[in-house]
Amino acid sequence: MKVFKFGGASVKDASGVRNLVRVLETVGFNDTLVVVSAMGKTTNALENIIKVYFEDKESVNQHVLALKEFHLKIVEELFENQFTKVNQIIHDCFEELNTFLKNNKAPNYSFVYDQVVSYGELLSTTIIHHYFEFKEWKSFWLDARACIKTDDYYRSANLNWDQTQALIKTQSKGHQLIVTQGFIGSNSNNFTTTLGREGSDYSAAIFAYALNAESVTIWKDVPGVLNGDPRVFNNTELIHQISYREAIELAFYGASVIHPKTLQPLQRKEIPLYVKSFENPKGAGTSVSKGKTLEPLIPCYIVKKDQVLLRLSSIDFSFIVEENISYIFSLLHEYQMPVELIQNSAISFSVCVNNKYKRLEELVLVLRSRFNVEVKEEVDLFTVRHFNRDALQSIRGNGKQILLEQRTEETAQFVLA
Ligand code: ADP
Ligand code: ASP
Ligand code: MG
Repeated sequence: MKVFKFGGASVKDASGVRNLVRVLETVGFNDTLVVVSAMGKTTNALENIIKVYFEDKESVNQHVLALKEFHLKIVEELFENQFTKVNQIIHDCFEELNTFLKNNKAPNYSFVYDQVVSYGELLSTTIIHHYFEFKEWKSFWLDARACIKTDDYYRSANLNWDQTQALIKTQSKGHQLIVTQGFIGSNSNNFTTTLGREGSDYSAAIFAYALNAESVTIWKDVPGVLNGDPRVFNNTELIHQISYREAIELAFYGASVIHPKTLQPLQRKEIPLYVKSFENPKGAGTSVSKGKTLEPLIPCYIVKKDQVLLRLSSIDFSFIVEENISYIFSLLHEYQMPVELIQNSAISFSVCVNNKYKRLEELVLVLRSRFNVEVKEEVDLFTVRHFNRDALQSIRGNGKQILLEQRTEETAQFVLA
């Protein structure tokens, strides 16, 4: 079995869906499980619907309607004479969503979020499955919630590997072309859960792991993994091959082309991962597998924008030692502030964090009861893997102020303002 994953950008409109079919025709699709994300920016639109739902229930309807029209337009363009049937199925999906929104009494934001946001993937896979059938391909629509089993940690659920593995095996048996959703799963009460934003790559890895797949290919709007995000850096180059370890490092530091959780399951079973262009399916792309050295061996640039640098120093000039550091870390955990970089000296401690859940103010208030705290918002964290002199020079010479710099043998990091 091969596993393919198509992200939101690849299926953002009707021509994207037609192109997905062209990719499958070009590379072959026998014994293939296709994981698909929500179409285009649908997940963002659903996030907005949830926000509006909690703030002002009255105006939810118009947002749902806009999203329905977006999907119906794609259906209209794709299905010609069979338009009415698929149109009805999509209509029913939206009715189900509206019924949930109308009847829901649960005040838990994260619970509601997962029940609602999952419609993005349910809709996209429904359309694509019917499009395969329209093309007279024998396709099986697999509800990922029937096999991806998780705990109750809504919005970033953790996998129950044993159950999931067994269920994927039984549910996919006997099918040669399977279409399923990325990103979503369900808990022991069969409520929908999600694996975290951008989690569809991870879903593909989970399916591949359970099926002992021969490979995973994630189809992207870039030729493969480049040595920097082309939206941020000029003159980026294609990385032809890298090891799992290197890919994990790049993803961890923020190379958003691969979701960080994707690599571990693949590495455990040594399943190769290919990152390829959905515009050029015959291109070689990037191959990620065991022990492969970075080829070509060039510096890789990663930037995480809009981070926060906190500089803490003791109020009484006492040392910042283990006890204070462990207190600081427990607060960072409590206020859900992922730590990107730390540096400490005798009386000061600097930490670059991601204010993902917008809890900075609360955190700083608590920290100020024990430390002097300087806060610098909207800083950029630059990471260069396999740096050389020119690479460091280009960061230093880019006109920004360096607030912090740190180097290990393979990695240089800069906090820039
Ligand atoms: P998907 O459609 O699967 O969700 P994403 O948008 O999440 O795809 O990922 C593809 C994007 O990742 C590219 O358009 C590119 O801007 C960005 N990206 C970030 N870092 C890299 C990198 N090192 N190499 C290639 N693309 C990168
Ligand atoms: N649709 C989800 C998101 O946009 C999951 C994914 O695309 O990977 O975050
Ligand atoms: Mg994505």
